[in-house]
Amino acid sequence: MEQPGLLVDVTSLPLTEIEELPGGGLRIGALVRNSDLAASSLVRARFPVVAQAVLAGASAQIRNMATTGGNLSQRTRCGYFYDHAAACNKHEPGTGCSALDGFNRTHAVLGASDSCIAVHPSDMGVALAALDAVVAVTGPDGARRISLADLYRSPADAPDRDTVLRPADLITAVEIPGLPEAANSHYRKVRDRASYAFALVSVAAVLRVETGKVARVRLALGGVAPRPWRAHLAERELLGRAATEDSFRAAAEAELAPATGRQHNAFKPELAHRTIVAALRRLTTRTGAS
Ligand code: SF4
Repeated sequence: MEQPGLLVDVTSLPLTEIEELPGGGLRIGALVRNSDLAASSLVRARFPVVAQAVLAGASAQIRNMATTGGNLSQRTRCGYFYDHAAACNKHEPGTGCSALDGFNRTHAVLGASDSCIAVHPSDMGVALAALDAVVAVTGPDGARRISLADLYRSPADAPDRDTVLRPADLITAVEIPGLPEAANSHYRKVRDRASYAFALVSVAAVLRVETGKVARVRLALGGVAPRPWRAHLAERELLGRAATEDSFRAAAEAELAPATGRQHNAFKPELAHRTIVAALRRLTTRTGAS
């Protein structure tokens, strides 16, 4: 698919460390392997949602090779994108989108446009979106930091450009700010088979319940949008509410009200609704708070 004029091997760069940041956060080098990230005792203790998301992705063999920066930079798995005979605005701008009236079972129900309805395939990115991670980038103009929420572009005007990264930019690290409540976090992924499959829907959730009420919550969705989808509407709906199934359902409903299904993916809003509720229920049950 890609036909670059030049390939640069970055694998020997010293970007393989996981370092502690003041305040309980972590800085993850861009070349940290997915398997090392998931096995890190720091990650597992402070941000279990990240370890779970990584382990839910790909296969053991791929995780042994795949890197943090590479995971965030991967492109969509829309089948038409990989079919040279198909019209695809992401592959060749201006040709159209074969998925709009084609087989769109895995495609987006939130945040898409008629230019492109592909979803972002990363699991790790969904967990990082829930945690307000920041991506460290270096390029011809020096170093800069981009919040994960701002890394991915809307497909509306230029669907061939997935991110705001510029030519010659290199992701050097991902920083996760300290978040004590993230010790109670969970990643739930729904897919067609138990491993080595992309999410139909996934949910990254962080929850703290105090005296029966939601004191802190972070939610992000995967498999439903062109980017890891931070569920701000659901979070707002939940804060201060009783940590009950009724509240979880109301929050899911608020988030998914704008969702638009197409011929083959109309099941996704309901599936996302149920997965949000299930992820929050799991965290509530774990803390014994409701
Ligand atoms: Fe191409 Fe996006 Fe349409 Fe898939 S959804 S065919 S990637 S434009």
